[in-house]
Amino acid sequence: MKQDDIVLLLKASSIKVTKQRVGILQLLSEADSPLTAEDIYLTLSGGEKGTANLSTVYRILDAFTQKDILIKTNLNLEGKATYELNHREHRHHIVCTVCNEIIPIKGCPLGDYEIKIRKSTGYEIVGHNLEIRGVCPKCQKAKRE
Ligand SMILES: [Zn+2]
Ligand SMILES: [Zn+2]
Repeated sequence: MKQDDIVLLLKASSIKVTKQRVGILQLLSEADSPLTAEDIYLTLSGGEKGTANLSTVYRILDAFTQKDILIKTNLNLEGKATYELNHREHRHHIVCTVCNEIIPIKGCPLGDYEIKIRKSTGYEIVGHNLEIRGVCPKCQKAKRE
């Protein structure tokens, strides 16, 4: 995501534009998989000392989640929350139970199922979480050797 787009997104969500907030969104838009607050904090504070602290990062992530800029999930196997940009496209992930790698999966098989549930329960369905666990090819190979 370009810096200009991030600034526009923050303004559209009535969030004050700061270097740190822009940096966090930039990081998440470039990440291939969801990140924990610690991941973000470590990356941001990597170079310059005192540019971020963990509780500030948490506060910013919470604010972004409330504004639907980010989605908070509980994918990390240590029970830590992970954050990713709220893509328009609905996605699921598969998690490797050995190395914790998280890979997005395209498409969702649950659309018809949601319609069935709506009919049988009368609920208006607003969403779902589906976490798939497995062992990635790298870890399968490591186990065999
Ligand atoms: Zn693995
Ligand atoms: Zn789905």
